[in-house]
Amino acid sequence: MHRFNRRDFLKSAGAIAAFAAIPRAVSAAVTSPRVVVVGGGFGGATVAKYLRMWGGNVQVTLVEPNATHISCILSNLVVTGALSMSRITLAYDSLKTTHGVSVLQGKALAIDPAGNRLTVQTAAGNEVLDYDHLVLSPGIDFTPASGNWNPNLTPHAWQAGPQTTLLKNQLAAMRGGDTFVLTVPKSPYRCPPGPYERACVVADYLRAKKRTGAKVLVLDANAGIQAEPEAFGHAFSVTHAGRIQYVPNANVVSVDSATRSIVTSAMSVSNAKVLNYIPNQRAGAIAASLGVNLAGFVPVSPLSYGTLAYPNIHVIGDSCAVPASDGKAVPKSGHMANSQAKVCADAILRTLSGEVLDQNVATNSACYSPITSRTASWLSANFVYGNIYDVNGAVKGKGMHRTDLGEAPSNGVDGDSYQDMFTWAESIFADSFK
Ligand SMILES: Cc1cc2nc3c(=O)[nH]c(=O)nc-3n(C[C@H](O)[C@H](O)[C@H](O)COP(=O)(O)OP(=O)(O)OC[C@H]3O[C@@H](n4cnc5c(N)ncnc54)[C@H](O)[C@@H]3O)c2cc1C
Repeated sequence: MHRFNRRDFLKSAGAIAAFAAIPRAVSAAVTSPRVVVVGGGFGGATVAKYLRMWGGNVQVTLVEPNATHISCILSNLVVTGALSMSRITLAYDSLKTTHGVSVLQGKALAIDPAGNRLTVQTAAGNEVLDYDHLVLSPGIDFTPASGNWNPNLTPHAWQAGPQTTLLKNQLAAMRGGDTFVLTVPKSPYRCPPGPYERACVVADYLRAKKRTGAKVLVLDANAGIQAEPEAFGHAFSVTHAGRIQYVPNANVVSVDSATRSIVTSAMSVSNAKVLNYIPNQRAGAIAASLGVNLAGFVPVSPLSYGTLAYPNIHVIGDSCAVPASDGKAVPKSGHMANSQAKVCADAILRTLSGEVLDQNVATNSACYSPITSRTASWLSANFVYGNIYDVNGAVKGKGMHRTDLGEAPSNGVDGDSYQDMFTWAESIFADSFK
């Protein structure tokens, strides 16, 4: 039987597959190199697992404050009560026992790039970890508008867990005629279709629960729908007609959580029944400490995910900024974080072995979006390293070039995609955490 190994992965353009890789010890000259990974989400869990699977004698320590990871993927279905929280709760047991990853429960506080040291706050006090390579995958932080936003009153639910439960309870308390206000952050943000998906499943919930006259008001900071505009445009104006009002160019100016009121450049709302304010986003703080671009994310090399100043410090997942063709930016998704993690793991192992970096790297992304309780749409995007172009088609440098332009996302919204969504999600959960 053919065993899918590291080189097969690189040839397969980052596709997810269930496989057993052949452990591969790095150069004998390097004794048990140490890699520290910060953040046990989709990027961090995957890079820790694959470094151990492909790296043989590499010591991997994963630093994460939480005992389990609660997935944002499928979390909108927990908000509506269609899924339980346990369905999206992912443990680190397999990383520890099957793959030999050391998991340290704690929060990374500070990096000493010159000394190759990371300070971690744990329940027992601060610990300092020495590393040969450091991988950061801390996800996102928020840049809220002015006012007095309190996420314990007006949740974002854009990091899953207690926020998901809070939003679920607030939705359940809605009655006929109430308004659920949802904001869409300025791009780039985590999961481009996610806010539109949430608007759809909330509207569907209000219909199913017969909350007559209740509606979802979508205040989008962007000029238009950021992902699958046809599918979501149809969902807003036909499938959920009368239950979703979409307002573009609604930049949030201020938020008052006490009165659930919001002021935007397009319109203002006072005393909404639910105010689901999803603020603009930037790299997680520990990654942002290395320096960010104008959008607030950390620029990296797409061949290694090494930062420009410190090649042995890598940033993957939502926190990183990858040069891509104009207007076709690499999306911030769990699938993409998983894909970048494998490229990063391979690059670290090559560097430790004194090999040159692979110049033919590829990454991909997929998002499934439930539109009703039985139907979903999907979207995928594939990227290869090479020339990237400006809006006029001129080469502007090297980066990740999108290869599937012209291909439609899903051919519509259907029940098969709804079922496929669960198969895909279980597959990425297993590939990252098992
Ligand atoms: C509603 C919703 C739906 C989504 N649907 C999809 C989908 O269909 N498909 C898809 O591919 N993606 C989807 N996503 C996006 C996906 O969840 C993220 O893109 C993905 O989680 C990014 O992975 P990450 O590793 O960068 O960050 P995360 O998965 O968020 O992991 C970051 C981890 O870092 C930890 N951390 C942060 N700071 C520190 C620190 N200082 N020290 C130690 N640990 C730290 C956090 O506790 C967290 O566990 C969705 C997101 C949302 C909100």
